[in-house]
Amino acid sequence: MREPHIRMRNVPHIMESCHTYKLSRHVTQNVLIPAVARGVAGKAFATVFQRSPLALGALPGTKLASAADMRGKTIGMHVDSLELMSSLLSLSGVAARVTQVQRAHKVQELLAGNVNAIQIYDCMEALELRDLLGEAPSILRLCDLATNAPVGRAIPLGYSQVIFGAKWALRPLAARVALTAFLEASAEGWQMAQANPAAAAAAILDDRAALGVVTGTKVDSVEFQQEALMRCLPYVMQTDDEKIGTINPEVWQKATYAMAITGYSPALVPQCNSLDTSLWKYSKECNQSANNSLITDGVQVSESMRKEATIRAGAFEMRVGRKPSLAIISVGKGHPHGQQRKTLFAQDERSWFNKAALCEAVGISPIEILLPENASFGAVHDAIQTLNQRADVDAIILQRPVPSTLDADVLGSYISAEKDVDDERRSSGYADGGGLMASQGIFQESRDLQLDAALTGADEPLARPPTPPWLSSPAAVLPCTVVGVMHLLHRSSLINHVCEGLTVVVGRSPQLGAPLARELIKANATVVVCHSNTSFSQLRDLCLRADTLVVAAGSPGLITKDMVKPGALVINCGTTFCPDLKKLLPDVHDDVAHVARFVTPTPHGVGPTCAAALTLNTLTLAEAAARRRDLETRHKMTVSRELMRVADNVGSDIPKWSHDSCLRTDSPIIRRTFARASYRDASKLIADMTVLAERANHHPSFSINPSRTCEQEGGCDVVVELSTYSERAVTLADVALAQRFDALA
Ligand code: NAP
Repeated sequence: MREPHIRMRNVPHIMESCHTYKLSRHVTQNVLIPAVARGVAGKAFATVFQRSPLALGALPGTKLASAADMRGKTIGMHVDSLELMSSLLSLSGVAARVTQVQRAHKVQELLAGNVNAIQIYDCMEALELRDLLGEAPSILRLCDLATNAPVGRAIPLGYSQVIFGAKWALRPLAARVALTAFLEASAEGWQMAQANPAAAAAAILDDRAALGVVTGTKVDSVEFQQEALMRCLPYVMQTDDEKIGTINPEVWQKATYAMAITGYSPALVPQCNSLDTSLWKYSKECNQSANNSLITDGVQVSESMRKEATIRAGAFEMRVGRKPSLAIISVGKGHPHGQQRKTLFAQDERSWFNKAALCEAVGISPIEILLPENASFGAVHDAIQTLNQRADVDAIILQRPVPSTLDADVLGSYISAEKDVDDERRSSGYADGGGLMASQGIFQESRDLQLDAALTGADEPLARPPTPPWLSSPAAVLPCTVVGVMHLLHRSSLINHVCEGLTVVVGRSPQLGAPLARELIKANATVVVCHSNTSFSQLRDLCLRADTLVVAAGSPGLITKDMVKPGALVINCGTTFCPDLKKLLPDVHDDVAHVARFVTPTPHGVGPTCAAALTLNTLTLAEAAARRRDLETRHKMTVSRELMRVADNVGSDIPKWSHDSCLRTDSPIIRRTFARASYRDASKLIADMTVLAERANHHPSFSINPSRTCEQEGGCDVVVELSTYSERAVTLADVALAQRFDALA
């Protein structure tokens, strides 16, 4: 019995078309994202499951209710899920061994006892295992492990069985038609399975026969297929009214960011590089930003950037247990026109001149440090150093301008590279390695003089201070305005235009023109840079040849209509505030709009993207720091897991220690008595041992003089016992500490 509409879809034919375009491939998101980050040009366009059915399977009767049950056990994972499992365990604080198993041999490894649990999908594979073992295996679902984790210890698993294709293969119309037919047939199939599982199971068997994949085993029975369908359905069907198999871009991006934080992915992958939502549309308008063609000005671009920042901040908080943070240092009165510009041009939560509100609106914690107008160089320097050290501070910005007695460039250079959110170090010219510093010898000297005086309290410098260690490392992010302009070009698809012709950048400041020109070159643009020493006739000639003109000179009305090529794209960065007119004056004259294809407006052009870039830069720094901490923790866990191995060579490594069992717990222990001349010496020995034990995160048991009545009898004994309680065994960790104690004796 089968439903006629399933046959109508002609699944084998559809599958064949998909094979032709090499499109019907499945992979988990945590495999696809790192591959894309490494440069593989693949995009996901649909998914089989809405939730991950990834699970651990163990022999029937094995206790497997929570991650804690895996303590000290060996888990067999496929090569592409080793990282994921290690991360989940390290977040759960469980020391277990994760080892690679081959897909084809994993069940044999489990049966042979080489591993205590193996990676399976909690649908077909769980059933196959049950049939093989004769009773249901113990199962621990990884999505439960991930979602039940306390705040700060959760990892969104993302999608498993993602359907993806090479970017080039997704373009041809014929491929898209074939794929849409395939996805429609799949969706109908699942709906039918929900309404009539028996008919759906029969249809699957027919299709398997037509595709030539009949195995002759139990898998080919209607009962098995029906049961498998029932088991898959909770993972496939959606709770709301979305189309089956569509990928929610928000869920996708959250998992992608979490991967970048936890170190699976070598770099952050923008959603547009890894996901194609146009083929199999997710119907909620939750991802306006993916639809680049809608975006035409800086405000719209900044909205999509703020949306991304909000998602990333949420993912960060879920993973790290606190909000990402930006420290904002203000000295004195602040920007003379800041308040006025904020009132005139932007709402609080979108304004560069209200960074606290800007941050809070997207889920970043602002940490405001207000210093008085008369704050000394030393006081601001110390405030920066304190923030550099604070683990709860992810990013730092020094608000400009600062009072005229201080040098903002010099002070900004003390922000450490990994927290420098507006690349103030590069802007000041200090961070560019030896070359640039040498060519700016005078500047460097004046900076040292200021620092000397500040540190010593002397009027005259005493000696050159040592070069701060971070001075030679570049900041991790680009200046916010550069990031804003690049987002504007990418998110509005204008970047393709930029790469096709000649690009002229007017302005070469280290904080804007120069790094922007470098970024454009990196994006494959052909770039010419002009500056104040470029003659006006040369500037006009070059501008007239430019297909893209980026102006960052700070000279109102510099570029006029007769300097612009018809049809050119013009990005105006230059904004000079005129308080009398209450206007922002652009470098690009209004009449340019008559010849150019597109001119960014002023206000509401580059400005809003620059403010939004501050939030994205904060997140990039926060994610990188979390990732560093995660890798460190995992390294420590790997080392401690290694030490958890049961020691089998105790006799030869620590001959002075005897084996025994603990009276209270009956666990194996090792014991040694250290004789000391006096009670005072014995106490000193215990204090020294305690320091070593704390460093090794170990807690031995000490007793003093248990077998003597008085030190006058001939000294004082310290009896030390070591055992690893969690393993109920003497481990390598005990042996290592015993050796250190021996060295004290
Ligand atoms: P800057 O440090 O003063 O640098 C200006 C650059 O323009 C210099 O490289 C200078 O050349 C060049 N220049 C000046 N006059 C020129 C002329 N007539 N012809 C050719 N080149 C000329 O300023 P900046 O910090 O880079 O900022 C530039 C503009 O962008 C300013 O208006 C600023 O307010 C604006 N800005 C806007 C945003 C935003 O969010 N929209 C953000 C940051 C800055 P030399 O190197 O030879 O001196």
